[in-house]
This record gives sequence, C-alpha cells and structure tokens, in this order.
Amino acid sequence: MKQNRRFFIKSFVMAIPALLLASRTARGEVVKRPVIQPVNLDFIKTEMDIMGRDTWTNVLPRKWLLRAAVEFDRITVHHVGKYKNFDIAKSTVIRDLDGILTEHIDRNYGDIGYHFVIDYAGRLWEGRSLGYEGAHVAGQNDRNIGIVCIGNFDMQKPSEDQLITVEQIITVLRERYAIKQTSVFGHRDLGPSACPGDNLYASVVKLRE
Ligand SMILES: [Zn+2]
Repeated sequence: MKQNRRFFIKSFVMAIPALLLASRTARGEVVKRPVIQPVNLDFIKTEMDIMGRDTWTNVLPRKWLLRAAVEFDRITVHHVGKYKNFDIAKSTVIRDLDGILTEHIDRNYGDIGYHFVIDYAGRLWEGRSLGYEGAHVAGQNDRNIGIVCIGNFDMQKPSEDQLITVEQIITVLRERYAIKQTSVFGHRDLGPSACPGDNLYASVVKLRE
C-alpha cells in the first residue's frame, strides 16, 4: 500500500512540469485558452421543443479537441446518409444518435460533429454545444452551424415533420445569430459531397429563396 501511495505521489510530482508545459508554447508564451461559456438554449425552447443533450447521452465532449465558437454566420444541412431510416420511437432514435456520436469520437472529432439532429418523427435533438465549432464540413466549420437529418435522402424522402423542424430551427438560429437567408447551405454547396441527398437538398434550396 505504502509503496503504491509513494509511487502515485512521485508520478504526480513528475507530471507537474508536463502539465505546466501544456499551457505554454515552444517560446514559453502562456496560451490563453478561450473560456467556453455554456450556451443558454432558451431562445430555442421558447419557440419549439428540443431534446437536451442529457436526454440521450452522458458522454462528455473531449474539450481539448474542440475550438470555441461565439458567432455563427452560416448554417449547413446534412443527412446521415448510408441507410434509409424511419425510426420514430425515442429509444431507437437514441440508439441512432449514439451511433453517430461513437463514429465521430472514433474519428477524433472530440464530440458529435453536428450541433443539432432531427429525427424522422421531427424531434429536434441537441448535439454539440453551440459553444463549440462543429465538425461537419471539411475545412469549413468556422462560424458554421451544423444540422443533420437522420436518414438517406437520396433513397427516401424526408418526412413532413422533419421538414417542419428543419425550417423552424433554421428560422430561430438565423434570427439569433443574424444569419442571412442566402447563408443556408446543403453540405454539397460547400464541398464535394452528395449530402444532404437530392430529396432534402430541394427543401434547403427553397429556404434560401
Ligand atoms: Zn454532410
């Protein structure tokens, strides 16, 4: 026991210089890490229902892999792709959300890449906090809110409920962050991708008109 304790203390003391170094650059300057302010979602809750992050996961974001975000000036809509999905039951949707989160953690995104997820029943789920930049369009995540609809909209049509929620959340976010109507995109507008599928992209285009 005693031996163990001594080993722990010794390891900790030896780790201190490494911990200090972590907050300094090679030139010895102290790096000021941005303080992440929790984003109050009341501006959404007063307009529409949202399933908070704690309703579907207790996995914490790996903050050291994330960048702080304060302002947004564009919104990008995605689909999950892969397979058709008509999941409506909460428990099944939570399984789907877990699948996306696990995949994104495995890719070292630090958290689910999207800020919001919309299921086939039209439920809105909180994904990555708006306090962080998303991970959803290669090289174009700065000031870009990511919304994903569960399904493959080359292979299926989005449900009416899904489309209503897409429009609602985009309206609320545009107002909150003063995002121009012309700055609502499908993933394919910003990079080489078929996402969010023809059937959902058609609705995204309409939101810009
Ligand atoms: Zn996409």
